[in-house]
Amino acid sequence: MKKTVIVANWKMNIAAQNSDKMLEYMRIITEKVPRNTYVIVLPPATHIAALGRLCQGNIFCGSQDISPFSRGAYTGDISANCVRDVGAKYVLLGHSERRLYHGETADLVRAKIAAAMDVGLKVILCLGETAQDYALGKTREVLTRQLEFFALQQYPSDRLLLAYEPIWAIGNGQALKGKRISFLHAHVRSYLGELAIPILYGGSVTRDNVREILTAEHVDGVLVGSASLTVESFSGILASC
Ligand code: PEP
Repeated sequence: MKKTVIVANWKMNIAAQNSDKMLEYMRIITEKVPRNTYVIVLPPATHIAALGRLCQGNIFCGSQDISPFSRGAYTGDISANCVRDVGAKYVLLGHSERRLYHGETADLVRAKIAAAMDVGLKVILCLGETAQDYALGKTREVLTRQLEFFALQQYPSDRLLLAYEPIWAIGNGQALKGKRISFLHAHVRSYLGELAIPILYGGSVTRDNVREILTAEHVDGVLVGSASLTVESFSGILASC
């Protein structure tokens, strides 16, 4: 039976910074996670160790970023080893906010994928078009280019997940309709061919639209930002899975 993946990207929000709140969040989602669903929570790096200790069953902890380097004089950076050693099983890479605010290039993302693979972290790789690409009708072209660049066949497929995130639909309530998501995921799926890599959708997923999205063809899960921040909204999402 197909497994559904739900990723909670807390970004730099510390809604659960207080250990009681985090405990409560994890307790409730552990109770609510439906069968055949697994949940990956990506807290700020400072919370990975504590959150990792609270993960059980189908709930896993991940990192929002890693350095491409394994060690050395890189002040402020955190290596794949560091996050793995304190409990991260996954890392999110290529998120548009890292590209926009930190100038991350595709080459850097590729180096980070290699660093993650070296230490056994699983990678959730974000792909997606800008508003301009979308307006020009270039979404599929952009996705193909990104897939060609990352040459995913070089990695073990059980270590990869893809998140299709139209950049213009993140954090603004403009989620795509299930039909459109299906159409684009079918494009990615056909590019991947035999590679059995789950394809998630991300961009303004809420408890109100998650069912429509998850029941759309070729959708293996969702990546949730804002609606993952409180236990109320996130458990609403889990309840609608
Ligand atoms: C995201 O952070 O990748 C995201 C999809 O955020 P939101 O759900 O708030 O659009």
